[in-house]
Amino acid sequence: MKQWLYMFERQMTPQAMLRVYLVVGGRSAVLVDTAMVGYEELVTEALQVVQRLRIPLKFIVNTHAHHDHIGLNHWVQTQTGALVAAHRWGKPWIEVPERNYQEFVLAHPHLIADSPALQGEIYNTLGPGIPLDIGLRGGEVLNLGELEAEVVDLSGHVPGEIGLLVRDKQTLITGDALTCSNLPFFHGHMRPDLYRATLNRINVWATNRQLDCIYSIHQSPILGCRDITMAVQERQDELDRLDRALEDELHSGTRSLKDLWLAVSARWGKQPEFRGLTMVHAHLADLCQRGRVEQLGELFRRAET
Ligand SMILES: [Zn+2]
Repeated sequence: MKQWLYMFERQMTPQAMLRVYLVVGGRSAVLVDTAMVGYEELVTEALQVVQRLRIPLKFIVNTHAHHDHIGLNHWVQTQTGALVAAHRWGKPWIEVPERNYQEFVLAHPHLIADSPALQGEIYNTLGPGIPLDIGLRGGEVLNLGELEAEVVDLSGHVPGEIGLLVRDKQTLITGDALTCSNLPFFHGHMRPDLYRATLNRINVWATNRQLDCIYSIHQSPILGCRDITMAVQERQDELDRLDRALEDELHSGTRSLKDLWLAVSARWGKQPEFRGLTMVHAHLADLCQRGRVEQLGELFRRAET
């Protein structure tokens, strides 16, 4: 059988890989994510396969607009002319690196200030902004000739994330839709409500035997229905644990975002950094929405029942 999926990888941190994927049909190919500045050799390997197969690279699909998934968009596009497609939510982050950095890293400047270390880790790996050619939302189908890849909504880690579901192969290619739990910091999610919906959707595909294999950018492939449902369950449990921890912290009275972020980071043994801060803030907003927590100015407290 003709090979349709190619994986290219490098170690990114001691705990995580950084990958890009090439999905190849009879007429055209798609590059899923472009890694980040500094990983040009990794992406070159993918472009060499496209050249060897003599198939045009039609699309660069960004799973989501984080630096380690979009950083070489401009670099790839100038070489190939491929169209950049991503969830429409990511458009400003893909087009304007300054805005991406500001909103991703410095969303709470009174708690986390700009620093050369943060600029080096995130801003300097972003590469130039590039216009988003195609804004996706899920439901679109990329017909590559003899192979169809369905764009599916996998939001939650960020408010707009997509993946490619190749139904004929029972395979899902994702970015960070199933977040990593083994990092020294919280990998994070910005929308717990959307994350729950995404996890449910993946579970339904797996239990209906529409999905047997998940490839992601940082973690090992998850193979088989049983392992997929276990991976989903772990993350559902984590969402519940985070809610419970915050409600528990609020048991003794009102607390600030800073208190809660530091307390949750300490409970989990994670470095208190910007991804965790955004995640804790998102859980508090979600708990407020659900009537379990109230916000009073800068402070949060348990809602009276
Ligand atoms: Zn991410």
